[in-house]
Amino acid sequence: MNDFFKSTAFENSVLQFEKVCEILQIEDWIVEKFRTPQRTLIVDCPIKMDDGNIKVFSGYRIQHNQTLGPCKGGIRYHPNVDMGEVASLAMNMTWKCALAELPFGGAKGGIAVDPKLLSADELQRLSRRYTAEILPIIGPNKDIPAPDLGTNAQIMSWIMDTYSMSVGYTAPSVVTGKPLNIGGSLGREEATGFGVAFATESVLKHQKKELSNTEVSIQGFGNVGKYAALKLKEMGCIIVAISDSQGGIYNPFGLPVENIIELQEEGMKVSEYKEADKITNEELFGIECDILIPAALGGVINKDNSSDLKCHLVVEAANGPTTPEADEILEDRQIKVLPDILSNSGGVIVSYFEWVQGIQEYYWLKEMVFNELKTRIQNKFNKVIEYADDKHSTLRSAALMMGIQRVADATRSRGIYP
Ligand code: NAD
Repeated sequence: MNDFFKSTAFENSVLQFEKVCEILQIEDWIVEKFRTPQRTLIVDCPIKMDDGNIKVFSGYRIQHNQTLGPCKGGIRYHPNVDMGEVASLAMNMTWKCALAELPFGGAKGGIAVDPKLLSADELQRLSRRYTAEILPIIGPNKDIPAPDLGTNAQIMSWIMDTYSMSVGYTAPSVVTGKPLNIGGSLGREEATGFGVAFATESVLKHQKKELSNTEVSIQGFGNVGKYAALKLKEMGCIIVAISDSQGGIYNPFGLPVENIIELQEEGMKVSEYKEADKITNEELFGIECDILIPAALGGVINKDNSSDLKCHLVVEAANGPTTPEADEILEDRQIKVLPDILSNSGGVIVSYFEWVQGIQEYYWLKEMVFNELKTRIQNKFNKVIEYADDKHSTLRSAALMMGIQRVADATRSRGIYP
């Protein structure tokens, strides 16, 4: 492996990738090409802080593969962002877009920063400077960023505006996850969380189980976690535990998700909700429930805690939440894992709808967005289950095989330039 990207997250992605390539008997040169990103940009962003001091932040944009089309992938603002993590997430995006049969390659970006410690003005200056730095490699037909952990629609607006000012015309399709008033898609905000719920519904249907009274614990109550909680509750599930970075809450009779979202919008932490027991993020993983949904960071289900899980199913809403060692332990314990590239693909699928709507300048109704999203997730789940049964593999291996095979086939068809 290229030492440049050395990190646990990247090593785990490569490990999963190589395992699948061996089964698929992919040629060595393709394996070598896919193992490391196609293009890596490291930037530094000096920002004048509100107190007059200048701070320099490190940023990245990594394009893993663009065989199937322009690159697509979110931008993460988190103190732990580094090149290995971004490279791992970029690789994941390649397989996710391919599995979803979207005309996109995979990319990811990020800045090592805690956005909660910046004022709105500082955040805007940082986002605009980062955009200016990565501008040579992004664009509606080159690479289209979107929100991820720590970023949101407002940050996408600043990216879109900075890009547009630089090229001299308004270019809404340079990002997705934008606000509606500048070309965003109805339903994009809810898309990843709702997609997680649609994927969960598909698994239970396949297992001939009811959604009603199914007990669910969710780690992370941001964009993905809260919309997954809302939709699953609407479908009849009981949300017994939730958490954010400061800790969590538990009530075996169910939590009022809507009320907690209201409190959060007023600036409160999840753990400040009073009608439930306080728990730590670590304790959340040991709660007895039917379904556990990690919807925050990568690597949170690992060899240290996977034996403690008391659920029947893990639905990966976060990217890379389960390490390969934990995967093996969960398989031995017959706990099914619905892999991230399938279960959280709602975000990139509706991002694709947003990109298409922007290019066509024809906007869809919300109902159309959710119907199309649900159909695509259900169909893909059915194909992955069928493939997994056929190959006697886990759902993760099946999903990865389908994604990697598609990119490998396209690579062979395109051949080598020059
Ligand atoms: P977000 O920033 O909106 O929310 C993140 C949530 O996780 C917050 O509630 C935060 O408090 C919590 N959190 C942060 N650190 C934590 C910790 N150490 N322990 C427990 N909770 C912690 O981010 P998001 O957009 O909801 O993304 C969440 C995950 O979903 C990420 O892994 C991201 O890559 C993945 N994802 C997001 C999208 C999307 O469309 N936003 C799409 C696919 C995958």
